[in-house]
Amino acid sequence: MTRRPGFPAQLGPSQPKPPTQRAAAARTGAPAALPPRPQGVGLDSEAVRTRMVTRLAAQGLADPRVLAAMGRIERHRFVDSALVNQAYEDTSLPIGLGQTISKPSVVARMVELLLAATPAGARLGRILEIGTGCGYQAAVLSQVATEVYSIERLRGLHDKARDNLRAFRLPNVHLLFGDGMEGFAKGAPYAGIIAAAGGEAVPQAWIDQLASGGRIVAPTVMPDGRQSLVVLEKTAREVRRSFLETVHFVPLKSGIA
Ligand code: SAH
Repeated sequence: MTRRPGFPAQLGPSQPKPPTQRAAAARTGAPAALPPRPQGVGLDSEAVRTRMVTRLAAQGLADPRVLAAMGRIERHRFVDSALVNQAYEDTSLPIGLGQTISKPSVVARMVELLLAATPAGARLGRILEIGTGCGYQAAVLSQVATEVYSIERLRGLHDKARDNLRAFRLPNVHLLFGDGMEGFAKGAPYAGIIAAAGGEAVPQAWIDQLASGGRIVAPTVMPDGRQSLVVLEKTAREVRRSFLETVHFVPLKSGIA
């Protein structure tokens, strides 16, 4: 990948020395004329991610599946090169077109809620994500679910997510361009639906497309104007809603652009 000079380039796997220089160095005994490779914990993305996971665990995130996924997916590959140094801080970051990638603790919390009824160690089945954005959360979800359908209404971000995710080679992630307010009926029923944008209410289409026993985790605007995280559980007999903590998500909008 050539598009990110600096930090991510240093984070990548160490590059073998070109054979000609290596051979020359071996012959002469002199060090090859290569720039020194940056070293140290601050430049090692795995160590930085491990620290992030340790902090998430200290904050109460307990599901080993989620901790493992957060430790595996390289968040710095999803943000602009000017922001990579903040990629493992617990902060939301701009991803273009006025949208943001959620803080790691919020991504982890929502994925943990989505998995809460799935037996320990098992994967969730097919899930739908509303709001692909840069693709980061879709990549995290790919580690805990069998199939991930992720829909985005902004063409520019849909394309960006496709670019970002290419190198990860995640065959179980399916990116869709469209209005996620309508869900994605062709993939239904879903074991879980997770929204990365907050609407006035959980759309009926999502509830209809949810399997019995499935869960929806979605930021939803409350009557007082604040957003709460809402968990909706569907059983054969009823739909149960729980209202959890206040959150700050970009708005869920209808139509495509
Ligand atoms: N999960 C994303 C977060 C993106 S922010 C990530 O990891 O980067 C939320 C996204 O929801 C924005 O990209 C916004 O365009 C998108 N969005 C808002 N309303 C939508 C809708 N009706 N259908 C699909 N995407 C929507």
